[in-house]
Amino acid sequence: MAAARLTIDLDAIAANWRALAAMNRGETGAVVKADAYGLGAARVAPALMAAGTRSFFVALAEEGAALRAALGPLPRIFVFSGLMPGEAPLIRAANLIPLLNSQAQVDEAKALAAALGGPLSVGLQLDTGMNRLGMEPPDLSALLSAPDGLAGLDLALVMSHLACADEPDHPMNAAQREAFLAMTAHPALSRVPRSLGATGGVLLGPDFHFDMTRPGVGLYGGLPFAEARPVITLEAPIVQVREVAEGEVVGYGAAWRADAPRRIATISVGYADGLHRALSAGFTAWLGAAPLPSAGRVSMDLITLDVTQCPEAREGAFVTLLGPGQGVDDLAAKAGTIGYEILTSLGARYARRYTGGD
Ligand SMILES: *Cc1c(COP(=O)(O)O)cnc(C)c1O
Repeated sequence: MAAARLTIDLDAIAANWRALAAMNRGETGAVVKADAYGLGAARVAPALMAAGTRSFFVALAEEGAALRAALGPLPRIFVFSGLMPGEAPLIRAANLIPLLNSQAQVDEAKALAAALGGPLSVGLQLDTGMNRLGMEPPDLSALLSAPDGLAGLDLALVMSHLACADEPDHPMNAAQREAFLAMTAHPALSRVPRSLGATGGVLLGPDFHFDMTRPGVGLYGGLPFAEARPVITLEAPIVQVREVAEGEVVGYGAAWRADAPRRIATISVGYADGLHRALSAGFTAWLGAAPLPSAGRVSMDLITLDVTQCPEAREGAFVTLLGPGQGVDDLAAKAGTIGYEILTSLGARYARRYTGGD
């Protein structure tokens, strides 16, 4: 077994969803875009559904179609990117709910509804200050004041997204909430369920919950949900161990030099597996309780560790890179990134194992 092992705890994901759902009065959805943040939507989403999730969110219609195949006809599947040109057949075949972002997308949706000869279920995504996706206040006013503005469309949700929800004291949070309240005050939207918060929004408290929340990263054990149960364990086997003499170098660029006689273990994982090359600045793996500092640069397929203090570090032994003692956000901090990017960078080469979920 030369492949590194990625173990994904479906029970922990379900427990994280339940914990977030318990904080809300309204419905709690689940964001499973980017293949459930790299952890495998085909396994993660059914476990969430078994835990009670009834509304799923993806970024793209293609992701939604794959999710529909995994989940069957029951749950609602919302698509953040809305309805892009050419996507109508996919939206229709997989019974997805596009979150329309512009008048052009509204027009596409109305054309699809007309072709279907019945109402099409859609949502509206509003921009409340992030300037990334969604209709701005003048677009929305124009849409709602046009006599046949929403003809043929059945509004299932009106939503927006917070730019700074991981910083509870940031003034953007209150400003975006005010903008959302103002935009959704129109009588045409009075009975439409509203959604503003993702993981950070759940944690900001009831003022940010509205009728539906959309947590993603917290389900997968990432910040800002500090109380999340850890979800993944990443272990890599030692391929080779060698002694290096004082003054010898290790790895590309000869960037690490032994200041004394050292034992170096080479493990079978690298930046192609999502262990970012920026980790060359230094990080720690573990063998049981023994810390194993990295030595030298991260290669594509390999990482070298200083195992001088750990006689158990032998060929074939597995070292732990991510687990209860070092979470995705700890490793992210050492790579100068965020836990989200560690999760979504985990590559395709792992032997993946799922636990729980039945
Ligand atoms: C990714 C995303 C989410 C989930 O955000 P997390 O911070 O992972 O909880 C929710 N809503 C939108 C619009 C998103 O793009």
